[in-house]
Amino acid sequence: MATVSAQGEIVDCTRCPRLVEYREAVAQTKVRRFRDWNYWGRPVPSLGALNAHLLVIGLAPAAHGGNRTGRIFTGDRSGDWLYRALHRFGFANQPASTHRGDGLKLIDSYITAAIHCAPPDNKPLPSEFANCRPYLLEELQRLKKVRVVVVLGLIAFKTYFGARKQLGWTNPAPLPPFGHGITATLDDGVTVISSYHPSQQNTLTGKLTEAMFDGVFRKARAIL
Ligand code: SF4
Repeated sequence: MATVSAQGEIVDCTRCPRLVEYREAVAQTKVRRFRDWNYWGRPVPSLGALNAHLLVIGLAPAAHGGNRTGRIFTGDRSGDWLYRALHRFGFANQPASTHRGDGLKLIDSYITAAIHCAPPDNKPLPSEFANCRPYLLEELQRLKKVRVVVVLGLIAFKTYFGARKQLGWTNPAPLPPFGHGITATLDDGVTVISSYHPSQQNTLTGKLTEAMFDGVFRKARAIL
């Protein structure tokens, strides 16, 4: 499967002045443990092929994760969890994603995010979500074969259903509740599986265990 994403042009985006300043400042100052890295410091594009059946939506790159490595969910603990789970259920060729060029290939899966630049304190502003939304809308229109969508966290959940509404796609009314493992099959046959975000806030506190996270991708695999 080819690994061309819909996002060739996103890496030059400067629509959010606050995020441009932050991503570049982080890339300059770095942290001690990564001081030998040449940080990416730009928007982090989506990953995967446009004919994927599984779509995963996250929140935003981490300052010293994706903003350092230039690959989505790569170089931080959240990504460690995600790629391990994807690999366990046959959606990635290897269990770890450490840097661009490490041989990782997604299999029938595609990863995007609500926002593509690292935000201060992991908190994008409403205007920044809005600025980044057109990229997601374009992707959703081009990902014609998606049958399962895994939303990582409440923001990804709201982003996905909000984007569907903007595209004029039918949403359930009322929307399903957000909760880990809650599944909803929509009128167009797409199944949405909600997951707690594998952030350290959730994984270190035990709110999200690896077994719980695996459960989400086991469901996705069973459907596909
Ligand atoms: S967050 Fe999105 S819209 Fe804003 S600068 Fe980054 S890529 Fe562009």
